[in-house]
Amino acid sequence: MLNIIVLGPPCSGKGTQSEKIASLYNLTHLSTGDHFRNEIKMRTPVGLLAQTYIDKGELVPDSIVLKEIYKKAIKKIAKNGIVFDGFPRTEHQAEMLQRSLHRKNLSISHVIYIDVDEDELIKRMLNRCQNNSGRSDDNAEILQNRIAIYKKQTLPLLEYYSKKQILTKISGMATVEEVFSSIRKAIDARLNN
Ligand code: AMP
Repeated sequence: MLNIIVLGPPCSGKGTQSEKIASLYNLTHLSTGDHFRNEIKMRTPVGLLAQTYIDKGELVPDSIVLKEIYKKAIKKIAKNGIVFDGFPRTEHQAEMLQRSLHRKNLSISHVIYIDVDEDELIKRMLNRCQNNSGRSDDNAEILQNRIAIYKKQTLPLLEYYSKKQILTKISGMATVEEVFSSIRKAIDARLNN
């Protein structure tokens, strides 16, 4: 079983790369952002609550995220494994994920960190805003807040997973296919270890 976490700042391409990883290794792609956007579309209570945070570029509180993730992922854990996209985003979420997996005798196999310079992130963000991605949180001001929150709350996870010796840093300053090729090499190298 292969359980992979894809970490990266907003606009680093983690959604695209997670989808490609899931497809190549036959894993379930679990995007917490997509999950919440879906709940918002269906106007469920969780969606409406999550929207108040997402629209400000803030993180949805851990209590809501963990309940949703437990419902979706851990309970019906996929046969081959999961690509976690956008989760965990805080050390508390990481600890809770580890505990839930441990109870099922499972663990995180690999954490892929997609590294993109801040200048490039801002360029991509402006592009995404201009091209109207359809996401309510894709506007310049909110995106700046998402980067600030990412730095404060999610970046510490690099050290957390680096200490566990399961983190690989991949440069995201290349084309989608080039980045994916580096990711694939890193995953294969770990699998063959
Ligand atoms: P994403 O699609 O991963 O960029 O997520 C979009 C938004 O959903 C984030 O800016 C957060 O508001 C919320 N979100 C997604 N995943 C999480 C998470 N693991 N913890 C808290 N909030 C999250």
